Amino acid sequence: MSPGARPVRVRYAPSPTGDPHVGNIRTAIWAWLFARHTGGTFLVRLEDTDQTREVPGSLERILDALHWLGIDWDEGPDIGGPHAPYIQSQRLPGYRAAAERLLETRAAYRCFCTAERLAEMRKAQQAAGEPPGYDGLCRARPAEEAAARAAAGEAHVVRFAMRDEGRTAFEDLLRGEITVENRHFDDFVILKSDGFPTYHLAHVVDDEVMAISHITRGDEWLPSAPRHVRIFDALGYERPVFVHTPVILGPDGGKLSKRHGAKSVLEYAEDGYVPAALFNFLAILGWALDDKTELFTRERLVEVFDIAKVSVNPATFDTQKLEWMNGVYLREMPEAELTALFAERLERDLPPAVPRPVDRELVRALTPLVRERVKLLGEVTALVDFFFADDVPTPAAEEFLGSKRWRDDVAGAVAGLGASAATVEGVATWSAAAIEAAMRATAERLAVRAGDLFTLCRVAVTGKRVAPPLFESMEIVGREPVVRRLRAAAEALRATA
Ligand code: GLU
Repeated sequence: MSPGARPVRVRYAPSPTGDPHVGNIRTAIWAWLFARHTGGTFLVRLEDTDQTREVPGSLERILDALHWLGIDWDEGPDIGGPHAPYIQSQRLPGYRAAAERLLETRAAYRCFCTAERLAEMRKAQQAAGEPPGYDGLCRARPAEEAAARAAAGEAHVVRFAMRDEGRTAFEDLLRGEITVENRHFDDFVILKSDGFPTYHLAHVVDDEVMAISHITRGDEWLPSAPRHVRIFDALGYERPVFVHTPVILGPDGGKLSKRHGAKSVLEYAEDGYVPAALFNFLAILGWALDDKTELFTRERLVEVFDIAKVSVNPATFDTQKLEWMNGVYLREMPEAELTALFAERLERDLPPAVPRPVDRELVRALTPLVRERVKLLGEVTALVDFFFADDVPTPAAEEFLGSKRWRDDVAGAVAGLGASAATVEGVATWSAAAIEAAMRATAERLAVRAGDLFTLCRVAVTGKRVAPPLFESMEIVGREPVVRRLRAAAEALRATA
C-alpha cells in the first residue's frame, strides 16, 4: 500500500509533563478534525517513558481539557481499545523486543560508555569546535562481546546506528520530500540503561502496533523525523505519513510561551472562555478555508477541514481576536444556556455572604442586560454583584466627582442625588421606562444634563461607573433599595463637603 492509502488512524500523544498548552492542544484539534472529516479513528496515547519529567495528575488534566473542548476519542488510556494499554510505561516488553530485533540485525548496538566518558568526549568536541554527539566508540565492539557483558549485568544503553555516508529521504505532507545526510546525526539512544525506551523508539513501535496512518505533531519533531524513518525502515514497518505542524508565535515573533500570556486550556476555561470559541480560534490558527471565514461551528469544521491546507508558516497568537471571538459566541448563545453559565460563575465568584444557590430568577433578569458587554464569563461577577447585595458599599467621593461636571460642585451633586431619590420614590409604575421618564424630567427641573445626573445615580445604585443599563438595573434592584442607596450616597457625599 502506498503511504496515505491506509484507513486513517491518528493519535494525540501527550507526555504527562503538566497542563496541556494551547499549542499542543491545537495539534490534537487538527488530528481530531482530520479523523472526523475522513471517518477515521482518533486515539489518545500517553507517552510517559521519561519518568523524570512526569508531573503527577497530568493525564487527568489532559483528558479534562479534551473533554472540555468537546474532543472525544475512540481509543485511549481511560477507555481502552484494541491495542490497550494506551500508556507507554505499561508497554515496555514491546519496546525491548523491538530493541532486541534491531540488535540482531545490527541496526543497533549496545553501548557501555560511562557518563564520565561521555562528558569527556563532549568536552573534547567542544574544545575542537566539533558538533556534539556520540562518537561511535562501542559500535565497533563485537556483538558477542557486548552480549556477554550485558548478560553479566553491566550497565549499558542501546544505540541506533544512524551515522553513515548515506542519506535519508522522507515525505512530509505539508513540506514535500525532505532529504538529509546521515552523517549529520549521531548514533542515538533508543533504550536507556533502566530498560525504558526513549521517545524515538517507543512512538515508532506504538505507531506500528496501533496502525497509525498519519503522524500529526508539532514541527519541533521535524529534525528528529529522519531518525524515526530509519527505525521504521529497520524494523520493516510501513512508514506513516508525516504531518509536521508549525509552531505558534507570540506577538513579538518568538515562539508562543507563558511570557506572552499563553495558558493551558484549563486556565482559559477558568477565565471564562467557552469551549466552542477556543476550539474555533485554535482550529483556524494556521489553517484557513478561504480568505475570509473565521467563525465555524464544530460541525462545519468537521465538514470542511483539510489537513493538507495547514499552513507551513507559523501563525501568530492574537489574544484580542480570541477575546472578540469569545464575545461573539457569548452573544450568539441561546439565552437559557448563557444564563446557566452566568449562574455557575456567580455561584462561584460572588462573596460568601450572598445566599446560595444564587437566585436564578435574578440571573435570568440580568442576563439580557449584560450579554452584550461581556467578552469573558469571568467578567460577569464584577459587573452585576450589586444586584445580589442589600446595599452596595458607598463608593468613594471621587467616584461621584470623577466626572467634570461635579468635580467642583459637591453641593450640586448632593442635591442631584437627593432629588433623584425623591423622584424614584414617587414613580407611579415601577418600570425602567417610567423611571427614565421621571428622571429626565428631574434633570430638566434641576437644569443639569441628564447624562450628568444619571452618572451620579449609576455610581450610587451600582457602586461603579461602568455598569449595565441604569434604568433596567434600577427596575431589577427594586424601588426601596434604590431609594436607600441614593440617599446613602447623598449623605456620604455631604459629609465630605
Ligand atoms: N510525546 C510527544 C510530545 O508530547 C509526542 C510527539 C508525537 O506526537 O509524536 O511532544
